[in-house]
Amino acid sequence: SEVYLNGKWLKHDEAFVSVFDRAFMFGDGIYEVTPFYSGKPFLLKEHLKRLKYCLDEIQIKFDPFALQETMLEAISRAGLNEADAAVYIQVSRGAATRSHFVPEKIETTVLLYAFPVTLKGFEKKSWEVMATEDKRWHRCDIKSTALLANVMANEEAIAAGFAENLLVRKGYFTEGSHSSLFFVKYGVVHTHPEGQKILSGITRAEVINICTDLNIKVVEKAVHIDELVEVEEIFVTGTTTQIIPISSITHKNKKVYTARKDSVTKKLQEIFIKRTREKLT
Ligand code: PLP
Repeated sequence: SEVYLNGKWLKHDEAFVSVFDRAFMFGDGIYEVTPFYSGKPFLLKEHLKRLKYCLDEIQIKFDPFALQETMLEAISRAGLNEADAAVYIQVSRGAATRSHFVPEKIETTVLLYAFPVTLKGFEKKSWEVMATEDKRWHRCDIKSTALLANVMANEEAIAAGFAENLLVRKGYFTEGSHSSLFFVKYGVVHTHPEGQKILSGITRAEVINICTDLNIKVVEKAVHIDELVEVEEIFVTGTTTQIIPISSITHKNKKVYTARKDSVTKKLQEIFIKRTREKLT
């Protein structure tokens, strides 16, 4: 398949970057994943806006909105015009002699490609997960390619037969290794507030919008692991995850949560399907 690298379309096995690329050496880059439902982008502007925010935060000068046409071209070149797919974008600071400080003259390395994703049928899934300490840095709002702590957390879960790992910082749940996290307690939806401890999930924001439209109360407040006894439903959200309920949580080899209800999750899934399949932006 083809990838777009620094302005050129190349076969993926003929596309190369420098061994001195800072994304390779330092994880010095930002990435973004945008979903396409039946070939049409969902929340495209929001994804590009987050990419711009992250690039600004680490002072990479690049305008991701200039990539809009290229994203559509990637879908069509990959033959995914009618399919469910996603576009991966990665902007690296670029290649230079290795040094921690950023050299003055450096050009970004831009990679973009489309790939097929199964987005149908998510509402039939449920995940058994584990929970571990959130070992990530203090700027989780930056969608950095430096994903080592996320990779280690997810790998620990998968190796132990779980679907995802929920991260806990000082006793409070932040989010999943690659998903946002919601709790339903006494009918009220709880999720960690935005800020530097979580990624500002695009699906998270859409789910909050849906709650508002359905008159479901949302509180942006972190949930403590000791509060699980009062929790009725838990679900995770994400671009390719969409909305998936958590059936159980295992923490330090003990089951600390088992799902009690599903009605809020089901309602949100139903509206989410309508929005992604009917109201495409
Ligand atoms: N949190 C983390 C750590 C993620 O990596 C992701 C993305 O996959 C999410 C949350 C969900 O964000 P989004 O809904 O924008 O895909």
